Order: sequence, then C-alpha cells, then structure tokens
Amino acid sequence: MKLDVNALRYLSKEDFRVLTAVEMGMRNHEIVPAELVDRIARLKHGGTYKVLRNLLKNKLVHHDATKYDGYRLTYLGYDFLAIKTLVNRGVFASVGRQIGVGKESDIFEVATEDGIVFAMKLHRLGRTSFRAVKSKRDYLVHRRSFNWLYLSRLAALKEFAFMKALGDHGFPVPTAVDCNRHCVIMSLVQGYPLVQVKELQNPDDVFNTILGLIVRLAEHGLIHCDFNEFNIMINDDEKVTIIDFPQMVSVSHRNAKMFFDRDIECIYKFFNKRFNLTSENNEEQDGSETEGEDEENGRPSFLAVKKVAGSLDKELAASGFTRKEQVEMDKFIEEDAEEHSSGSDDDSTSEINDTGDAVPINSLKIEDQDHHDEYDHSLASRNSDEPGSLSEEG
Ligand code: ADP
Ligand code: MG
Repeated sequence: MKLDVNALRYLSKEDFRVLTAVEMGMRNHEIVPAELVDRIARLKHGGTYKVLRNLLKNKLVHHDATKYDGYRLTYLGYDFLAIKTLVNRGVFASVGRQIGVGKESDIFEVATEDGIVFAMKLHRLGRTSFRAVKSKRDYLVHRRSFNWLYLSRLAALKEFAFMKALGDHGFPVPTAVDCNRHCVIMSLVQGYPLVQVKELQNPDDVFNTILGLIVRLAEHGLIHCDFNEFNIMINDDEKVTIIDFPQMVSVSHRNAKMFFDRDIECIYKFFNKRFNLTSENNEEQDGSETEGEDEENGRPSFLAVKKVAGSLDKELAASGFTRKEQVEMDKFIEEDAEEHSSGSDDDSTSEINDTGDAVPINSLKIEDQDHHDEYDHSLASRNSDEPGSLSEEG
C-alpha cells in the first residue's frame, strides 16, 4: 500500500478532529453514522459534513451507505492518526521509503530531525485474509469494538511489549522505540532477511546461533511461532537479529510443542536447502551432543527445554498486554496460522515506493496537540472500551 504522507501536511485541525471522531465512533460501530461523527467532533455550522467529504476524497475514510449514512477509517486514515501522534510526541519527523512488505504489515523508514533513522511497522491485520477475518467474527461478534483496527492495534501492542522484553533480556532484536495504535517504531536493522542471503562464510555457525536462539527463547518461556528465513535478519558480519513478534506464544500454550518443533523444522529445512547443511554433517562439525536434544533426531527437544523454562511469558502476560487481549490475539493468530502455512511472507500485492525521498512532516507539529494527546491516552488505557469524548476541549 502506498503511503503518501504529503497529504498529511495539508490536513487542517478540523480534518484531524473529524478523523479522530470517526476513530472514536468505531469503538462501538463498524460503520459510524455521520450524525454520530458530527456529535463527537462538534464542529460549528455543520462543518463535519464538509470535512468528511474532504477526508473521503483523500481516502482517509470510507463511506458506507448500505444500512445508513456512515463512515469508517481506512488504513490510510489510521496511519495518519498514528503518524501524527508520534510526530507530535517528537519520535520522528519524516517518513521515507518503504523497506519491507510483510504478510500483514508495511515497513517504512522514518527519521528524526537529527537524522536518526528508525523502522516504522504499520500492522495490517486481515490484509491477506479478509475472508478469514470474516470467519473470525463468530467469536468476536459479542465484542462491541471488534474491527480490524482493533486487531492491528493489538498486534502492534503485543509486538512492542515482546520486543521490549526480549531486548531487555539480551535477545538480538530491534530496539523498541515507541508504539501508537497499529504502529511500532523500532531501530533499523542493518542487514537483510536471511531469505535474500545466497552465501554465508560460516553457515553452520549461523545455523547453530539460530537454533540456540529458539532454545533460549523457550528457556525464557516463549516460542516465536514464525521463525523462518523471512523473520531473521543477518548483517555483513553474519550477526543475527530476530524480528516479527505478534504471533509469539508461551511454552504453556496447548500447542506449544508443535509450534516449537515447527520453528526448528523451518530452520533445518531452510539451511538444508540453501546451504546444503544436513543435521548429520552439522553434528559432525559440531562434534558434541548437546543436552536437551531429542533422542530420536538430535534436534532440540521441547520437553527438555520446557522443564527449565523461565517466566518471561508470565511477566509479559502481567504487563501491558492483558489476558483477554492475549486470548483474542492468540485465537486470531492460530486460525490464521492454520490458513496460511508458515513462511509465506512473499504473497503481497503491495506497491513499493523505494524511490521516494524522505518527506518531512515537521509542519504537523503546529496544531492541535491538545485533543490528540488526550485522546491518545484514552486509547492507551486498554481496558476501557467506552467511547471517549472530545467535548472537554471544545
Ligand atoms: P510481517 O509481520 O508482516 O511479516 P515483519 O516484521 O516480518 O512483518 O517485516 C517485514 C519485512 O520488513 C522484513 O522481512 C524485513 O525485510 C523488513 N523489516 C522489518 N523490520 C525491520 C527493521 N527493524 N529493520 C529493517 N528491516 C525491517
Ligand atoms: Mg515477517
């Protein structure tokens, strides 16, 4: 998806106010009645309707008149809200080229005024599986606030919390910088996804490092669940960085062993195919049999690892990411994992704008810090599903 941030500069205070009102309305309406948008935004002289037309023209909202005259945010509209909030917070000041297209995300470079470059991941749950999302409504149907914005926001929230915790525990992951709505800002990894790497100086070192990481993660109580050549970055010194965490689960998950074995299998398969590394010749080079290996095939054994597992999973469950959200996310991700086999990150139809120069959006800072900041906090209080109100700042 192309992200034209230029339009951001031309949006007025009123535009953002109405956009925010649509977002608030979406907490309990899939399609927000225009009249409700107007009531939340409280612009004078029926201004809301004119602004809505402008937002529609810029593809920031979608108009739906099937049941009543109503609107919902588009991804672009949601992107703009998140970007504006983060720019107002001073996290970054410009958006650059797109550097990655994931299964359900778009990744861009962003830069601070001092020229520090970060990676910005915009989650887009449901992009490749709209039908799947539909079938998931069964269990979410009782949730007033269900929509893809909500799921994408959960994914970002979870990814941020996990990235932060893993970084704090010394895992090679990007540094978690900030998070808002469906958007995660992290350090930029210098390197390439392993899938693009045709040759390695020391394939067996890299292989063992990666296997070691899967084991160490499990020893901390966690399984990545999408540990494959698309989610492992490698730099020129063959140093490994793990990315992409929204689907991680605890070792006490009922399918934990299957997820663990599948992660391991992915790595064996890839290294065998790409670098001609078989478990046999790797063991010869390795020379030793490590404790905790599966007796049958010499691979790391989930049960052995689980016995000594720490409690990072529980720490994470206790912080930031509530139990209820975890359950909903897990359900979504499990069903999703069943529908898409692991390692199919390359099925996107998105357009990559890799020629674009960084677009400074400093001018965004000028206006309206007030109600966005306020709203932002209300969104951050994750347990509240009540629609907020803009009325205080009127
Ligand atoms: P998805 O969940 O959609 O698979 P990922 O987090 O795996 O998204 O990111 C998709 C791609 O974007 C990665 O394969 C990688 O090429 C690139 N990417 C993601 N995060 C970073 C980062 N922090 N630094 C550099 N490139 C990144
Ligand atoms: Mg990925």
